[in-house]
Amino acid sequence: MKTYYHPDFLKYKHALHSESPERLKGILKKVKTLLPKKYGEEILLLAHTQEHINHIKSGALIDRDTPNNPGMHAIALKSAECAITAAENNGFSLARPPGHHAGPDYAMGFCYYNNIAIAAKYLKKNVLIIDLDVHHGNGTQDIIKNDEKIHYLGLHQNPAYPGTGITSELNYSNYPLQLGTTGKEYLKILTHALDKLKFKPEHVGISIGFDTYYKENLASLNLMLEDYEKIGKLLSERLENVFCVLEGGYYIQDLPLMFENFTKHFI
Ligand SMILES: [Zn+2]
Repeated sequence: MKTYYHPDFLKYKHALHSESPERLKGILKKVKTLLPKKYGEEILLLAHTQEHINHIKSGALIDRDTPNNPGMHAIALKSAECAITAAENNGFSLARPPGHHAGPDYAMGFCYYNNIAIAAKYLKKNVLIIDLDVHHGNGTQDIIKNDEKIHYLGLHQNPAYPGTGITSELNYSNYPLQLGTTGKEYLKILTHALDKLKFKPEHVGISIGFDTYYKENLASLNLMLEDYEKIGKLLSERLENVFCVLEGGYYIQDLPLMFENFTKHFI
C-alpha cells in the first residue's frame, strides 16, 4: 500500500498533548512515503461550512483538546489533501491532525477538518467508511448522514469519549464495544458487521486508529499487536479499492509495529 505523507505534519506540537509528532516519527522509519497532491481550499467545503473554515483560519479558541493557531488551518488542509490522494490511489494517509471528530461546523478531539469525510465526498462514488478508532467518529457520522452515496460503519468503545455512536440509522451502523473487548471478540463483531451490510461500495475508506491497543492510555480495549494483522487481512480479503486514513493511537513505542501489521496484507 502506497503511503502518503508531508513533512508539515510534524510542524505543530502542543505542550503535554498526546497527539504529538512522535506518533508519526517511528512509523516513518519503517516506510517510504510519497507527497500528497494539492487540491485547494475549496475541498473543505465538501464537508464543512465556510464559517467553520473561517474559525479555524482565524486561530480563534476551540477547546483544550484542540488548540488552534493561525498555522493549524494550512496543516489541517494538507492532512485533508493527503486523505484525498490516498483515496485516489488506494493508499494510506499517514497524516496529522486526525479528523473523525470534526463535524460540519465544529472542531473537537484533536480534529479540525474531517479528512475521511472530505475524501469520501470528493470521490463522488459509493463509499463505505469503516471507523476502527477506539472512539466514535461522531464528526464523520454527522457529515455523511443523509448522504445516500456514503455509509459509515463504526466499532468503538462505549462508554468513552465523545459519548455518541450508540444507535444506528439508514446510512450509519454503530457497534459499541464493552471495555476490555479482546482482539478475538473484535474480529468476530467486525466480521458480523461486514456480513450484515447491505451497502455495495465502490471504494472503502478506513479511519484507522491504533488506540484500541491494550497498552493505550486513552482507552480500555484489549487488542494485541497480532490482532492488527488479522484485521488488516480480513479487510484486504473482503474489500476492494481500500484506502486508509490515520486517526488516533498514542502508545508511541509500539505504533510502528501496529502500522506494519495492519498494512501487511494490503497491496
Ligand atoms: Zn481515538
